[in-house]
Amino acid sequence: MHSGLVNPIDFSREGRQAGHLAIPYSVDRSPYYQIRIPILRLRNGEGPSLLLTAGNHGDEYEGELQLGRLMRLLDVADIRGAVTILPLANLPAVMAGRRCSPFDGGNLNRAFPGDPIGSPTARLAHFLEHDLFPRHDVMLDLHSGGTSMAHLPCTLIERQADADRFERSVSLMRAMGASHAFIADNGSAAPTSMGAAARAGIIGLSGEFGGGGTVTPETMAFTAAAIDRLLVTLGIVGCPVLSRAPLPEPGPLQLLSLSRHSQGIYANRRGWFEPAAALGATVSAGDLAGWYHDLERLEQPEEELRFAEDGIVISHRLHCGSQAGDCLIQVAEPIAA
Ligand SMILES: [Zn+2]
Repeated sequence: MHSGLVNPIDFSREGRQAGHLAIPYSVDRSPYYQIRIPILRLRNGEGPSLLLTAGNHGDEYEGELQLGRLMRLLDVADIRGAVTILPLANLPAVMAGRRCSPFDGGNLNRAFPGDPIGSPTARLAHFLEHDLFPRHDVMLDLHSGGTSMAHLPCTLIERQADADRFERSVSLMRAMGASHAFIADNGSAAPTSMGAAARAGIIGLSGEFGGGGTVTPETMAFTAAAIDRLLVTLGIVGCPVLSRAPLPEPGPLQLLSLSRHSQGIYANRRGWFEPAAALGATVSAGDLAGWYHDLERLEQPEEELRFAEDGIVISHRLHCGSQAGDCLIQVAEPIAA
């Protein structure tokens, strides 16, 4: 077999099935090479059906580590309904520690709805949107800022035309317990996993669970709590699986909006960025956002960068070295529920 994607899972079967999605991809060192993407399916009777994915971008580790752990901890006898776990979705990107696949440059979260005879990333996207997603009621796709970006931990959903599905999405997002969340407005043709979930007719949940190409005790606990709260809220498990301490009731949720180019500060030339505002800080238009240095012209003073809009700082670039077009820092607008 030289194309397509081979799926070993029988979704109608009860019990535990572990295996690999296989994407044939002929390379120099191995003419019949297959990209092997781990997948676990647990099913125990009738009930809700949840898909958990991470590694959509390879260098976003909170979800990859926690879903790998969940695969080891979750016993089929402990669940009601079905759970499918895909912890390292774009496996070549994960193994390379990169956002995109080194094989085809594919950014999985820009590859939906995919192509069944396309590049490996396009074939994977096609399988996810057309085959895997529609077998579930709800999916959670775990992201973070990745190697180059620090991100305020938050959850995210896409606005839905279907009022019932939108209301259910908001209520599940609240149940995940983050202090901040986004309702994205990317439209029905979005090339993202959330666009794909909407087209597949299921509830899509996502979020930025940390960043920096690393994990911290805080981001791992936040990720564990979000996954546990979702599993418990859906009635798939009776008590938390991943969290090491009892989960308190979620606090208030601040909704955020990111909709204007002017909410970000973008580099307009090569330079080196020094942030002046911390993630989560409340800032006003005109406040100092950071400094832009020029290490090639040390006699030039660093440039002051100032926010163009009020808001809450949600992300900033971690790599000092920057090029024209790089987003250096972003604020989001707090909005009413
Ligand atoms: Zn991502």
